[in-house]
Amino acid sequence: MKQFDLYEPTSVSEAAGLLNQFGAGAKVVAGGSDLLGGVMKDWVQGKGMPLPTQIIDLTTIPNLTGVTTSSDGLHIGATTTLTDVIDSADVQKSIPLLSSAAATVASPLIRNFGTLGGNINQRPRCWFFRGENFNCYKKGGDFCYSVTGDNRYHAIIGGELCYIVHPSDTATALLALNASAKLSGPSGDRTVAFDQYFHGPREDVLTENVLRPNEIMTEVVIPTPAAGAKMAWNKLKDRQVYDFAVVSVATVFTVDGSGNWQDGRVTLGGVAPVPYRAQVVEDAMKGKNIQQTIKQAAAQIRTVARPMSLNAYKIDLVQGLIERTVLQALG
Ligand SMILES: Cc1cc2nc3c(=O)[nH]c(=O)nc-3n(C[C@H](O)[C@H](O)[C@H](O)COP(=O)(O)OP(=O)(O)OC[C@H]3O[C@@H](n4cnc5c(N)ncnc54)[C@H](O)[C@@H]3O)c2cc1C
Repeated sequence: MKQFDLYEPTSVSEAAGLLNQFGAGAKVVAGGSDLLGGVMKDWVQGKGMPLPTQIIDLTTIPNLTGVTTSSDGLHIGATTTLTDVIDSADVQKSIPLLSSAAATVASPLIRNFGTLGGNINQRPRCWFFRGENFNCYKKGGDFCYSVTGDNRYHAIIGGELCYIVHPSDTATALLALNASAKLSGPSGDRTVAFDQYFHGPREDVLTENVLRPNEIMTEVVIPTPAAGAKMAWNKLKDRQVYDFAVVSVATVFTVDGSGNWQDGRVTLGGVAPVPYRAQVVEDAMKGKNIQQTIKQAAAQIRTVARPMSLNAYKIDLVQGLIERTVLQALG
C-alpha cells in the first residue's frame, strides 16, 4: 500500500478546501472499500491517474449522513451506509427500488461500511483498468485492451475508446428515480441531475462523471414518485454470492386505468460506461398496453446494442431482464 497522509475534516468546506489545496494528489474517502481496499492496494495508477498522497476522510463530517424527508423528496447524505439506506423506513416506503438495488450490492459486511456516495463514485471494475500491467486509456495510456482481449463483461452500448461498464447498482436505480446529486466545492454548491452526472469516454476517458477534482458529493435528492408509481429492480450476476451486475434493470413508471404506460424510465446497469437510460424501450411503451407491448418494446434494445467479440450474450440477457422487470413492477 502506498503511504498517505490522512485528514479528518469536520465540515464540507474544510474538506473541499483540502482538496483544493492538494490538487491531483488528494482524494476523498468514505468507507474505503474501493479507494483503499481496491484502487490503492492494487496500485491502479498511470500518468493520468496518480495514486493519492493525501486522503480526506468524509466520515468525520457529522452532517453528511442520514435520510431526511422534505417537500422536494428524500435527501440521503453521501456518507450514509448502504445498510442504513436499505433499512430506512422512508426509503422502503417511498422508493423501495433503491432499497432493493442497494441490497444487491456486495456483501453485508461491505454494505455496513460502504456508503452511497462511495458506491456512486466508485471506479470501474474492468480487469484491464484494475490490472497493474495494463496502461489503458483510463489511466492515461493509449489503448483499450478489451478490444482485442477478454471482453465478456464489457460494454455493449456506448463504448468508444474505452469499453468499461459502470459498476454502481445504486446509480442505475437513482437514474430510474430521476434523482439529483448535490455537489459542493470551493466555488460553491451545485445540483446535477443523474441524467447529466455520468459521462462516457468521449467526454473524458479519465473520469466517469462531472464531479470536479475539488468537489464533494454531499447528498442525493430523490423526488417523491408520482402517486401509484410502479417500480422494480433486477440484477443478474455470474454467481449467487456477492458480485457486480452482468446486467441489471431498474424501472419506475405510471400506468393508466387500462394498463397503458403513461410515463417512466427503464435504466440499465452492466451494459454501458454510464448507467444507461433505455429510451428506445420507454418510447416503444409510451401510451401502449404494457402486457401486450413489453416483449416488442424490450427487443428495441437490440437497435442500440453494438456487442464486442465475447459479449453478445448480454443482449439476450438484458432484453429478457427488461421484460421481466417491467412485468414484475406491473404486478
Ligand atoms: C468485494 C466487493 C464487491 C462489490 N460488489 C459490488 C456490487 O455488487 N455492486 C456495486 O454497486 N458495488 C459493489 N462493490 C463496490 C462497493 O459497493 C463500493 O466500493 C462501496 O459502496 C463504495 O463505498 P465506499 O464508501 O467504501 O467508497 P470509497 O472506497 O470510500 O470511495 C469510492 C470512490 O468514491 C469517491 N467518493 C466517496 N465518497 C464520495 C463523496 N461523497 N463525494 C465524492 N467522491 C466520493 C472516493 O474518492 C473513491 O474514488 C463491491 C466492492 C467490493 C470490495
